[in-house]
Amino acid sequence: MFTFQLGHLQENLEAGAEKQTAAPPRSLAVRSMPMARACLIIYNLSMLNTRVFLLLAASTLAACQSSAPLREDIAAHVQMVSAERLMTSVETLCENGPRHPMPDADAPGSIASQKAVTWVADTLVAQGWPETSITRERFEHTRRNGERVWVANLVLEATGNQTPNETLELVAHWDSVAGAPGADDNATGVAALIEIARLMAVAGPAPRTVRFVFVAEEETGLNGSIHHLTQLKVGENLHGALVFDMIGYASSDDDSQTSPAPWLPLMPSTGDFVILLGNWTGSGLCDLYDACAATYVPELNITGFHFIGGILPDADRSDHWFYWENGFGAAFLSDTANFRNPHYHKSTDQPASLDPTFFREVTQAALATVFEWAYHGGHGWTTAVETFAITNPNLK
Ligand SMILES: [Zn+2]
Repeated sequence: MFTFQLGHLQENLEAGAEKQTAAPPRSLAVRSMPMARACLIIYNLSMLNTRVFLLLAASTLAACQSSAPLREDIAAHVQMVSAERLMTSVETLCENGPRHPMPDADAPGSIASQKAVTWVADTLVAQGWPETSITRERFEHTRRNGERVWVANLVLEATGNQTPNETLELVAHWDSVAGAPGADDNATGVAALIEIARLMAVAGPAPRTVRFVFVAEEETGLNGSIHHLTQLKVGENLHGALVFDMIGYASSDDDSQTSPAPWLPLMPSTGDFVILLGNWTGSGLCDLYDACAATYVPELNITGFHFIGGILPDADRSDHWFYWENGFGAAFLSDTANFRNPHYHKSTDQPASLDPTFFREVTQAALATVFEWAYHGGHGWTTAVETFAITNPNLK
């Protein structure tokens, strides 16, 4: 997860520059809660302003979801999600670091020097995915100091065998900040995608297309996800993107969770939940995640805010931002980064600091969501957006 606020993001995009500041971002969240308590809190918050009131009302109602239908095949694959494999992936990614763009990279082929990315590609092939289903989206990034680096997103296309034009994207950035091994940020997200890809390979072809997008340069201004969106096939039906950024740190200690907005009394004070943020078109994907978690991973705590996109810009701190900007549905999963994890962007962001049980649960609910959508039609969720040509704001 990157560290500057959206107000700075546009500035960064315009400059096409690397920028890392310590400015604390802000976001909002509402924990799924009994209706009576939710109504009371909403009433109190309505004193703030109408916009916040409507936002919270919609989000809270959305968080009161029913569960998804129980399907035996999904339940079986949910149980196959392995905490050991997830942690091994995180450890291997950290060992293959640094995952910061190499200054010696001076040509498109230099991405081969990115050991971690090569390892991800090799792992997918070993799972049974054909080489032809894996591509690299290379792009050049000019840093503020004039240094030019070549980086690449890695993309696995699990093409649907009935309606391949219907796509769900799973997104996680593979890069880390300089000087940090990036176990939670964001080897956890990459590991989750790898594990879901493994179990899709086990399950066999799905009717719909699932695209696994391992993006570069999130930490330096969301460059990888922005570039990826410019590469979308015009006319395909993108149903949404599920974005993973830091999903492995949890604590059951009192006051282990801080709130980015002190005036908001809704953020739980114990950091044992995954946060789920969405936009208008992505709210259905949030609902689906909630419903699948309720059915298959009821022990997972979720704090959801399904309509935050475009309303409270400071919530836009990761690769979901450019989806939201362009009207695509995206749902964002995170452990809330620096509002919980004391190792955020530090050399101590090591695998040993993670909670494998929490990490597995977040991944299990994501797998159930993906499987429900790809193999079973998505429990009635239909908010596809036809893709269109997108211009990269970094290009002049
Ligand atoms: Zn980060």
